[in-house]
Amino acid sequence: MKTFDILPMIEWGLGNENIPLGIAGPCSAETEDQVMETARGLIHRNIHVYRAGVWKPRTRPGSFEGMGEEALKWLSRVKKELGLKVGTEVANAEHVRLALKYDIDVLWIGARTTASPFTMQELAEALRDTDKVVLVKNPMNPDLDLWMGAIERLNACGIKKIGAIHRGFSSYAKTKYRNVPQWQIPIELRRRHPELPIICDPSHISGCRELVMPVSQMALNLHFDGLMIESHCNPECAWSDASQQLVPDAVKKMTEDLYLRRASADGEAAIRLAALRQQIDEIDNQIISILGARMNVAQQIGEVKKEANLAILQNTRWKDVLAKTVADGQKQNLSEAFVRAVFEAIHTESIERQNAVMTEK
Ligand code: PEP
Ligand code: MN
Repeated sequence: MKTFDILPMIEWGLGNENIPLGIAGPCSAETEDQVMETARGLIHRNIHVYRAGVWKPRTRPGSFEGMGEEALKWLSRVKKELGLKVGTEVANAEHVRLALKYDIDVLWIGARTTASPFTMQELAEALRDTDKVVLVKNPMNPDLDLWMGAIERLNACGIKKIGAIHRGFSSYAKTKYRNVPQWQIPIELRRRHPELPIICDPSHISGCRELVMPVSQMALNLHFDGLMIESHCNPECAWSDASQQLVPDAVKKMTEDLYLRRASADGEAAIRLAALRQQIDEIDNQIISILGARMNVAQQIGEVKKEANLAILQNTRWKDVLAKTVADGQKQNLSEAFVRAVFEAIHTESIERQNAVMTEK
């Protein structure tokens, strides 16, 4: 995997030396007073960049679509009078032109835009060789290649201060999250591109105030490089995303209460971790052998079904397997969701094995 040519975050000039990058501010810039009052409330050593959406991508027409260029003037005022760096979302070349004209420090690409290769190419060209920080939110759908492709297009246009923002993934099913975090995706992004800073947006993952803190802590437990938190001086009356925004004091307190984790262990902790990791490696080894054995049996079942000309999917049998494994899992303190996910994956693989046997000439 080719590495990205990215400057370390410490060289971005945002002022967050040795601590996670703190980005906070309203979902949308609504009025000059709201922008200034929220910004004044967010002045704190843990907050480095003031965010506010100026052009809002809305699911349905007729909702508030942002104040546009006028609001960029308010962000300039925040920058000049309060000394905070400022950031906004850009979704086309004209947005980029205006954001650069008003000297916005951080430009982020929204989830809906990341998913569009044509728009990403247009943005990358409009931003060519910029010294500004560009942050790329994950696409709405859990597609890591699409996310990486957007970053590649920017990097290929000479942009070097790039970060990824994890804001969760939309799902049709109702869950406790507005956008399901699917942590395995940013974890895989980090595995492939350790040089790329990853920031978490707990607000759009949560969709409600109560979850913002635990989601932020999870991100820091995973050693993310920063947080982008929505904050409004009067959240209940916000023109967009009212239920997930925190008052500035709550954001400041939260950043003080969060635990920061170290990237690697030393001393006693390192020794204990090494021993436990060895145990994990042995257990993983056993799991793989057992899965191999299970698939061999599944294959034999496929042969019997073929001879007897039976359908592969035997629905009552599958229901029984799932009910039994979920019940057994509970005795081992394993959640139903986890056992289901594991056995659904195993069952799918078994079916594929059997299908291969049945279609063999
Ligand atoms: C936002 O940050 O206000 C926003 C619209 O985010 P997303 O693109 O993640 O939906
Ligand atoms: Mn929002």
